[in-house]
Amino acid sequence: MKAVICRSPGDLVVEDRPAPSTPPPGWALVAVSHVGICGTDYHIFEGKHPFLAYPRIMGHEVSGTVIEAGEGVDLAVGEPVIINPYLACGKCIACRQGKPNCCVGIEVLGVHRDGAMCERILVPAQNLYPANGLSLADAAAVEFLAIGAHAVRRSLADPGARALVIGAGPIGLGTALFARIAGLDVTLLDMSAERLGFAASELGFATLDASRQSATDLVREATNGEGFDAVFDATGNTQSVQSAFAHVAHGGMLVLVSVVKDDIVFSDPEFHKREMTLIGSRNALRADFDHVAASIRDGAVPLAKLVTHRTTLGDTPRDLARWAHAKSGLIKAVIQVG
Ligand SMILES: [Zn+2]
Ligand SMILES: [Zn+2]
Repeated sequence: MKAVICRSPGDLVVEDRPAPSTPPPGWALVAVSHVGICGTDYHIFEGKHPFLAYPRIMGHEVSGTVIEAGEGVDLAVGEPVIINPYLACGKCIACRQGKPNCCVGIEVLGVHRDGAMCERILVPAQNLYPANGLSLADAAAVEFLAIGAHAVRRSLADPGARALVIGAGPIGLGTALFARIAGLDVTLLDMSAERLGFAASELGFATLDASRQSATDLVREATNGEGFDAVFDATGNTQSVQSAFAHVAHGGMLVLVSVVKDDIVFSDPEFHKREMTLIGSRNALRADFDHVAASIRDGAVPLAKLVTHRTTLGDTPRDLARWAHAKSGLIKAVIQVG
């Protein structure tokens, strides 16, 4: 089969690889249909991913159809599926508590093991969700939106609460969209006038442009000095996360959607006097995938506006390398495989 291999940072090629064969019990063989390209993939390509072993087949935002089901698997051949790329051990403390998204031994397809930028892939059946009623192109967008949907669900924020989403990239936009679906009153903050322009004109969000004025002043003006009830940071930027504590209202919460590799420093008196809740949010659960799929089916997610770029498996080495640097106008790019 054809596979896009990242042999080492900056070196992306299409190669012939042996296709995986008969699925073991509990697994299924899937013909890959569409694969979304993620910030993680650009990081792997650029050598910025901290623990990545090369060579690697990337790709974790995936839809496909079942070719063959292993013993004990209740999926029909030809069934369209969404792949949940987080392979969990099923035994650890998190798995025992129904939180495979933060499994101690988690393996993510396309990161810790080979992913889906190829024609066929073996996946545990428990990681395959029927894509009922979705096109296979739309089904490949469920995973990145589920990250934001999970963060919103983690927040437990009540409808009507004022939410600030920091970072207007794909994850931030997904968080903002699902915060709005949850009934929150959403504002987006970013340093990019282009991204904010898109969020305002295409998606109808209130925006704050922190490239022109300090974020602290903007937040104060936007909230009568009170701060936001729920703040979501989706920047992956240490400075942004540290500043975000100050944007939270008394009694409010800060949800860390992205991850930074540094220590985070904050003022404990400021944290304490707010009785602030600090929440981590990692990956997503089946409930989030289901919620996103249902929302797309209901027409609540403007996917046609979010998927701005398309390519094929054969053109991925050229296009992914280009898009890693030329992000203007790019929200989400999708590879059509099948
Ligand atoms: Zn992703
Ligand atoms: Zn586990």
